[in-house]
Amino acid sequence: MSDRILFWHRRDLRIGDNLGLAAARARSPRVTGVFCLDPGILQRDDVAPARVAYMLGCLADLQQRYAGAGSELLIVQGEPARTIPALAIAVKAQAVYWNRDVEPYSRDRDTAVAEALKAQSIDIKTIFWDQLLHGPGEVMTGSQTPYTVYSPFWRNWFKQAKAEPVPTLTDAEGLTPTEQERAQAAGAIALPTAKDLGFGWEGPLFLAPGEGAALDRLAQFCEGDRAIEAYDEQRNFPFEVGTSGLSAALKFGAIGIRTVWAAAAAARDRSRSDEARANIQTWQQELAWREFYQHVMYFFPELADGPYRPQWRDFPWENNEAHFQAWCDGRTGYPIVDAAMRQLNETGWMHNRCRMIVASFLTKDLIIDWRWGEKYFMQRLIDGDLSANNGGWQWSASSGMDPKPLRIFNPASQAQKFDPEAEYIRQWVPEIRHLDTAELVTGKIPRSACDRVGYVPPIVDHKRQQARFKEKYNAQKAAIDG
Ligand SMILES: Cc1cc2nc3c(=O)[nH]c(=O)nc-3n(C[C@H](O)[C@H](O)[C@H](O)COP(=O)(O)OP(=O)(O)OC[C@H]3O[C@@H](n4cnc5c(N)ncnc54)[C@H](O)[C@@H]3O)c2cc1C
Repeated sequence: MSDRILFWHRRDLRIGDNLGLAAARARSPRVTGVFCLDPGILQRDDVAPARVAYMLGCLADLQQRYAGAGSELLIVQGEPARTIPALAIAVKAQAVYWNRDVEPYSRDRDTAVAEALKAQSIDIKTIFWDQLLHGPGEVMTGSQTPYTVYSPFWRNWFKQAKAEPVPTLTDAEGLTPTEQERAQAAGAIALPTAKDLGFGWEGPLFLAPGEGAALDRLAQFCEGDRAIEAYDEQRNFPFEVGTSGLSAALKFGAIGIRTVWAAAAAARDRSRSDEARANIQTWQQELAWREFYQHVMYFFPELADGPYRPQWRDFPWENNEAHFQAWCDGRTGYPIVDAAMRQLNETGWMHNRCRMIVASFLTKDLIIDWRWGEKYFMQRLIDGDLSANNGGWQWSASSGMDPKPLRIFNPASQAQKFDPEAEYIRQWVPEIRHLDTAELVTGKIPRSACDRVGYVPPIVDHKRQQARFKEKYNAQKAAIDG
């Protein structure tokens, strides 16, 4: 057995600021990377083509970075508990390192891989919470229980010291030609395209994949246009570029969270006004939401399967399939909802304000089970992430941990407030772009105008549905409260 270490990349597709990879390199210069195309993930029915295209772009970038550091990233395909040990044996690895994950599937998979490696007497090291500033268990209530409410979590999380970025992989030693051959015999393959894997994504990606693009985006946000200093206000307007656009990079770990935090902290140190500092803190709160949802997924894995609040476990959803299809297609007759769904379908991304609007509309206006929407988002989003998506949907459906139940968004007032000139609506629903702004934001479009351009009139009445929903909710609550 050599002193080679195999580093298994999963949602950490970078060589910079990577806790597990830096630890592997500190132990030995002979570090080889591996990524496994796992059918347990890729063959699920909630995989978005844009997300696969982004991931493969990150892997191509990562292969180049490994080459630049003197080593290589190998690609294998198949059940990880079989492929990872087979590769480790082929390259005579002394140890396999990887970063931990919070998702139930990943935890089961990792246990199976760890057991298979131990059975071959191959050392493992998997202690690193690389994707989080604070891992599960590090931010707990006074009685050492996990938080189930965000605000106290945030206060405790924020006051704890944050780690600095760790060194980038350099001066690694690659495989010998014989070891390369053995790796190929053990299943190492060339990086496939999205099409090879059965996913078609022709359009441009919302965020260019890879570590360099993510670092550029962060620098632009914090130092270039300094949008971070106006984040609190600008983040709500879907037509503006007021947010970082880093969600896909954070999902796949194309950027290190310590690097992200350091950039925000430096922006805060540089800022000259309390207002700018308050805006930066609002952005830091979003990073804390991301961590909160990952912590609760870790401690309450049952969230992945359904609602947290008991009122919602057998809620009488109406689940009208024609209404669901209209929502998916962006043909509900509510212009702001339709604009948002079309943005999602065309780009694989949707602005956060609009995610809240369409999620409220699906659950409270169409009275459709939030899990249908959760799955549709996963089938489309470039940044689709179990913890954040499930958290967002449960928040919108009022089925999650959030203490305030029954949040119902009025699509017209949301559009009036956050797309007052209807620029976003016009961009994504071109057939009605020539209509008056007032008609577009209120959604009160004359029937004759709808017919002329082929735009559907509202499929439900917001006021009526809101009342019906409340009635169902109160009846359900009363039955449970006894
Ligand atoms: C119904 C619904 C579903 C969502 N699904 C996802 C999802 O699958 N993946 C995902 O990354 N985000 C999801 N979000 C959260 C949020 O909409 C996106 O993170 C955000 O729009 C990404 O844009 P940005 O990178 O410019 O974010 P910024 O506003 O710049 O925020 C910075 C980072 O903080 C994190 N973040 C921001 N808001 C949230 C939030 N509410 N919850 C958790 N993390 C957050 C993201 O990693 C984001 O990149 C969802 C929200 C809702 C309401």
